Amino acid sequence: MTDAPSPLPEGPDAPEPGSLEAEALEHIRALIRIDSVNTGDPATIGDGETRAALYVKERLDEVGYDTVVVEPRAGRASVVARLTGSDPDAGALVAHAHLDVVPVDAEDWTHPPFGAEIHDGILYGRGAVDMKDFAGMLLAIARAFRREGVVPRRDLIFAFFADEEAGGVWGARWMVENRPELFAGATEALSEVGGFSIPLPEDRRAYLVATAEKGVTVATLTARGSAAHGSRPTADNAVVRLAQAVAAVGAHEFPVVRTAALERFLDVYARAGGDIDDLGFSASLIDAGSRNTASPTVLSAGGKINVIPASASATLDVRVVPGQADALREQLAAVVGDDVEVAWAREIPAIEAPAEGRLVDVLQDAVTAEDPDGTVVPYLLPASTDNKHLARLGIRGYGFVPLRVPADFDVFGQFHTADECVPVEALFFGTRVTARILRDA
Ligand SMILES: [Zn+2]
Repeated sequence: MTDAPSPLPEGPDAPEPGSLEAEALEHIRALIRIDSVNTGDPATIGDGETRAALYVKERLDEVGYDTVVVEPRAGRASVVARLTGSDPDAGALVAHAHLDVVPVDAEDWTHPPFGAEIHDGILYGRGAVDMKDFAGMLLAIARAFRREGVVPRRDLIFAFFADEEAGGVWGARWMVENRPELFAGATEALSEVGGFSIPLPEDRRAYLVATAEKGVTVATLTARGSAAHGSRPTADNAVVRLAQAVAAVGAHEFPVVRTAALERFLDVYARAGGDIDDLGFSASLIDAGSRNTASPTVLSAGGKINVIPASASATLDVRVVPGQADALREQLAAVVGDDVEVAWAREIPAIEAPAEGRLVDVLQDAVTAEDPDGTVVPYLLPASTDNKHLARLGIRGYGFVPLRVPADFDVFGQFHTADECVPVEALFFGTRVTARILRDA
């Protein structure tokens, strides 16, 4: 660990001052230094998202973009700008990042979460991978294309959204519902979560691309029984029934579903020489994407120690593999048994984009140009991104923020943790690969 944070990494691989990579790093660090924490609670959210949006807007305006800023609530701004491509028949590509970040517990951090300090070639700060890294890359690339007269094949719609971390209500969802014209002609989108390398044998790497995302819903379990005095145990105690159901859910493993994304992952990963039993820290990510999951999170029962309540309930955070919504309901009902009712909230549906095609080929070509030993491998993201909102406009979303990292560096493990960090070299790599993608897509 070095003593003082250095402004830029030094050494043979340091980019030229004024280069695209150096500019991207400058924007990434500036954005990390803007505290844009999204607590999800209007009472505690500041104006960080708007300050970040204005940082982006000013730098896009500077090079001549017609930038649109929308701010449906004070402090919750998003930014959109379009660059016209050479092929009027090609659908536009939305390249997007969110400007908000999740909260921090500063005492858990070794380095200041909004300091954007670099130590030993690693950039630390909230948003280092989620996802001010991509926001800064996109901003640098958008500026460079405009400055240098680079005309991409497709129209590029650069979008920087507020509120992703709380469901996009005032960001992507609001934009899709209220300003869909900003995405006119768009057919595909590129954003989180993917693009990072995971190790393959013989010092080669797989770069995961999310081609699908699980759906999200909430199940509420309710057990009922006779209300009674706590001194006289009953056979139908609602708390006991509920606890048994919750324990059964916790012990249950839903079956593996061979979606197109999983089939493609297994196929491409194996052909690249990867061993499915040797996924290391990526195993949980792939596993969570291969089956439905239901996690008990909130329990509610009883109000007084000497009263057996007539009902008890639990909520489950349920994540649904594409095409599995009906099967999951049947499976969960069987797991909890006849004594417990299951009520379902409205589902945010899973999304699924083709795991093969021109865009995936362009991702591979861009990776190959910068890492000849890299193979792009589709996977199913077990979480949600703003791509779900854009999907309502018929836009097929991909998760690919290219980061070439050392074999022992777990990018997915950085999301939402203390000391969130990313190797600076990975950011330079990502900037170069993303520039190729956006030019050729
Ligand atoms: Zn994110």
